[in-house]
Amino acid sequence: MRLSPSLSIDRAQLLADLDRLSLIGRAPDGGMTRRALSREDAEARSYVMERMRAAGLDVRHDEVGNVRARRRGRCKAPDGPCVMTGSHLDSVPSGGKLDGPLGVVGALAAIEALDRAGVHTDKPIEIAIFVGEEGSRFPRGTIGSAAMSGHVAVEAILALQDPDGIVYRDALATYGDRGVPLPGCAEKGSIDSFVELHVEQGGVLEASGVPIGVVTAIAGLVQRRVAFLGDANHAGATPMNLRHDALLAAADWCLSVERAAQVVGGGAVGTVGKLEVSPGGKNIIPGRVDAICDLRAPQPLLLSAIDELVLAALRASAAPRGVEFEQVLLQRVEPGPMDERPMRAVEAAAAACGLLAQRMPSGAIHDALHLAEACPSTMIFVPSIGGKSHCPTEATDPQHLMQGCEVLAHTLAILAG
Ligand SMILES: [Zn+2]
Repeated sequence: MRLSPSLSIDRAQLLADLDRLSLIGRAPDGGMTRRALSREDAEARSYVMERMRAAGLDVRHDEVGNVRARRRGRCKAPDGPCVMTGSHLDSVPSGGKLDGPLGVVGALAAIEALDRAGVHTDKPIEIAIFVGEEGSRFPRGTIGSAAMSGHVAVEAILALQDPDGIVYRDALATYGDRGVPLPGCAEKGSIDSFVELHVEQGGVLEASGVPIGVVTAIAGLVQRRVAFLGDANHAGATPMNLRHDALLAAADWCLSVERAAQVVGGGAVGTVGKLEVSPGGKNIIPGRVDAICDLRAPQPLLLSAIDELVLAALRASAAPRGVEFEQVLLQRVEPGPMDERPMRAVEAAAAACGLLAQRMPSGAIHDALHLAEACPSTMIFVPSIGGKSHCPTEATDPQHLMQGCEVLAHTLAILAG
């Protein structure tokens, strides 16, 4: 590696790429909706693939639709194991313009900076556009990275069905990329390391005034569906001591989810984001409440601890009110520890740019969670204004976007040797 001090990002091009992508699938509220393998997703992908080809990258795709664009020039072993970067272009309904796209066009900006500076590397650098990260169409998220890491078999991915009954394989045939796909998704050992640039989607960096986050672990999650079964009855004629109010039991339990996160600490968080009250009449005591809770923590022990507290709280909240409950585990995803080697590379890159960096876990799940199963991985976070994400007001100071890309460029140069 011959690292030039003048690794400068083309700010105008970076912002223009982000703006261009933000117009694809744009909703009236200013957010954008690009479901995996939709027309909008395909349009976003083909815009970026054009840019990649113009930048001289060798652009291919794999059997589940991940795009893989390799920098073969200025590289000693263009067919050897690659240093991979990248993110996703699909979005949640009415999502923000940075969640995903920053890690894709930011990677392109980083590679263009390396090219302008004439940086040669031993290993090739590759940009991946992972398909279906958000899980807003098919029944699971991080589809492309799960396939690439071997976490889920290609056949199982191709058989997924969306709520309209459209099978993944057919959606891929309609809106996937043309040409012969690379066989499989990735061979073991074909990826040397992985680093993903992403907006933080929380308020930690903004609060500490540090521009760069180095991700140490990606929080795992447990989601449970819970039903509280009480007795629907007349809101006027039933004395308070004769009620079996399902909503009061659920409300008490919601508060215990908050307390469990506080007791466990260490970055554990708990949310009840969905509550359905039945029969839902203004003069009827709630007879049934269906809830979903979402628990996250960066270490398996912490995740189990908060889950156990929340389960124990079910009985404590329901029994005193004569309410029954049922619960079922929807999913458990284990936390993903990141690797020291790429983490140190990001820290060295930040230092080379004269920027402060802080280590932190990611509360949100990302493609890096699965890549970490296949190779040493980490993520670079840049601050989110107001900690907002998954909404149209998601934003990051352009200076921080630039700095994130600059740190990524240096990190790639360090990792690719
Ligand atoms: Zn994302």
